Amino acid sequence: MLKLAVQKSGRLHDDSMRLLKECGIGISNGANKLKTEASNFPLQVFFLRDDDIPQYVEDAVADIGIVGENVVYEKNKPVEIVEKLGFGACRLSIAVARGENYTSVQSLEGKRIATSYPFLTQQFLAKNKVNAEIHEISGSVEIAPGIGLADAICDLVSSGSTLLTNGLKETETILNSEAVLVRHKKFNASQQQLLDKLLFRIHAVKKAKNNKYILLNAPNEKLNEIISLLPGMKSPTVLPLADKGWSSVHSVLSEDEFWDKIERLKAAGAQGILVIPIEKMVM
Ligand code: ATP
Ligand code: ZN
Repeated sequence: MLKLAVQKSGRLHDDSMRLLKECGIGISNGANKLKTEASNFPLQVFFLRDDDIPQYVEDAVADIGIVGENVVYEKNKPVEIVEKLGFGACRLSIAVARGENYTSVQSLEGKRIATSYPFLTQQFLAKNKVNAEIHEISGSVEIAPGIGLADAICDLVSSGSTLLTNGLKETETILNSEAVLVRHKKFNASQQQLLDKLLFRIHAVKKAKNNKYILLNAPNEKLNEIISLLPGMKSPTVLPLADKGWSSVHSVLSEDEFWDKIERLKAAGAQGILVIPIEKMVM
């Protein structure tokens, strides 16, 4: 049995549960439960505050956890990041009042910085040889400059709209973060086996998200050119169409080369191009 810690409620909860679901792991999600058990995988899920997850994992109360890198690095516990999960993207940034004259990190010298991330903020200041006073507050950090509590903040940003509505401007990014899977360092062989099984599924889900299934019709005289544009998992599938002189070509395209490839396929004579999401992909 593997014990997994996920955020009880908040920004990472839904995506964490969705990932488990996409991995084919059935969780009956009792809203106010502290823990629950998967119906078809030897997995127990604990619902916790994200800040507590590194500690629980370090202590092996939970074997693995899903938490933001920002929290992992702030808590600075000896847990190991085993996989980046591709959701919960944000950055930890310094921001000051929009009217403030900010030229470089040196502008923070002697200032008061409000943050929920004292460790990472101090580390950043030390690296830049800046002396500033850190005010640790646990929430609503963005209002600190407005009420005269601080001159600057160091807080998580995603779209930047919270900064904007509070009259702040982002001046430095000190960390880019996303949700990660962490584990403790005392794994035994059977726990590792279960983790490998889970990772195998996570990889299949991530890979599928980064790829699309593509079907198109190609005139036979253009087949070679069209096939040369398609990487596929091995090589594309080519089937004759009822219409003589035409073939149907099936392949897989990665998200990042997708639009470029579609244009070139069209230019090469491909017609009736269909693009379909892939649910799981195992290489
Ligand atoms: P908890 O009650 O579990 O302590 P919280 O209020 O500390 O929750 P949330 O605001 O739910 O935490 O954020 C959880 C995580 O989501 C963050 O640690 C971060 O990794 C990620 N995240 C992504 N975008 C943002 C954002 N714009 N602001 C804050 N966190 C973000
Ligand atoms: Zn928290």
